[in-house]
Amino acid sequence: MSGLREECGVFGIWSPVKSALAETVYYGLYALQHRGQEGCGIAVCEEGVITAHKDVGLVGEVFTPEVLRSLPKGNMAVGHVRYSTTGGNERRNCQPIVVNHRKGRMALAHNGNLSNASELRNELEMSGAIFHTTSDTETIAYIITKQRLRTDSIEEAVLAAMNVIEGAYSLVVMSPAKLIAVRDPYGFRPLCFGEMPDGSYVIASESCALTAVGAKFKRDLEPGEMLVFSREGIRSERKNCGKKRHHSCVFEYIYFARPDSVIDGVSVHGARLRAGEILAQSCPAEADVVIGVPDSGLDAALGFSRASGIPYGIGLIKNKYIARTFISPGQSSRTDKVRIKLSAVPETVAGKRVVLVDDSIVRGTTGGRIVSLLREAGAKEIHFRVSAPPFLHPCYYGTDIDSEDCLIACRHTEAEIAQIMGADSLGYLPAEKLAVLAGHSGICKACFTGKYPTAVPSEAHKDKYEMKIKENG
Ligand code: SF4
Repeated sequence: MSGLREECGVFGIWSPVKSALAETVYYGLYALQHRGQEGCGIAVCEEGVITAHKDVGLVGEVFTPEVLRSLPKGNMAVGHVRYSTTGGNERRNCQPIVVNHRKGRMALAHNGNLSNASELRNELEMSGAIFHTTSDTETIAYIITKQRLRTDSIEEAVLAAMNVIEGAYSLVVMSPAKLIAVRDPYGFRPLCFGEMPDGSYVIASESCALTAVGAKFKRDLEPGEMLVFSREGIRSERKNCGKKRHHSCVFEYIYFARPDSVIDGVSVHGARLRAGEILAQSCPAEADVVIGVPDSGLDAALGFSRASGIPYGIGLIKNKYIARTFISPGQSSRTDKVRIKLSAVPETVAGKRVVLVDDSIVRGTTGGRIVSLLREAGAKEIHFRVSAPPFLHPCYYGTDIDSEDCLIACRHTEAEIAQIMGADSLGYLPAEKLAVLAGHSGICKACFTGKYPTAVPSEAHKDKYEMKIKENG
């Protein structure tokens, strides 16, 4: 309930026979909906011809039965769910991006943010390129198509582009004859593939999407790995593997990913349980009940309860029918949006000392409202525990932590934040325990430590291109 937004989710399928793949992609995107609720799209390749549909909205809103039926049968398809970490929420910024170039067509779906996007875009614009979107993904598409003019195959062009682009990118690229999956050399964002009983191969941001379409998980892509699916079978290209130290986003385990997913061999649910256990050891509390903020605080609350011996309870109920992108219809400040999303269960919390576990605190406003709800329901004490360290730095790799101004931990001490939120105590997960939580040390934790694995971008605001367009009139 941090208020942070997920980045994006990608999905791809290669089938040995022509079939209604848009439907499979639809179900895959539904399973990835938590990664992006602003827009979505599907592109299908039918004998070399790419047909796409994309728009702003949830998967179920954009892909009505009529729209799905209008997409052709094919032997490859790519899908995307979007939250805008660069570029505004407009149809033109939705993905997959489809481009026509001298050597054919290509569809591209991307999860992540480039750390050198502004420099690359400036260079391209100075050489005459005209951009139709304000997202990083179009920059990647330009670079791949430029490389394609000099290379004999699409996979060589993608490999060459990997030497130019820097930062976070999990990509699915569809050419008229091949489906290509790429994970950047740091492995910031997850990407895995599986096989369906009919011999089709499926690529997805998270393993939960493979399960949703009946595919058997094969493995994660290695950081820097490229997989090529074609009539010739599957080919793995590892030229860019091992070039950088593995830095998978630790916040995927804490908040972004679905708990039933497994990333780099580590269960997300298991990681969240460990976070709760670590919290119970590092920031114990005398209490009668442990409750979690739905959904992503629940697993860590269970871990806290198991490690502390304090009973676990259901203390907050989430309105299941409210979209994550919920916007109130009016400007009235009398209605508290948190109240529409969450309500307290008095039977669990009344007269009790409560440990409240949430995944993160960004501005502190949501946390404060949840504390108020629990007080109104009769909670005697509230000990706020956070299954992440304090956010102190922006993220340049695909999440919307884009300014230190909005981070409460940059301006206040723990004791002050507890007071602002109305909690009796506050405890964060220690940053040095993040590797224990993730089950491996190949993690990015830059938003907590300020130690960035890449050069810090010169311009990092999510709306940087829109701002530039306005400046230039
Ligand atoms: S800076 Fe934080 S949110 Fe961004 S990739 Fe690294 S760990 Fe994830």
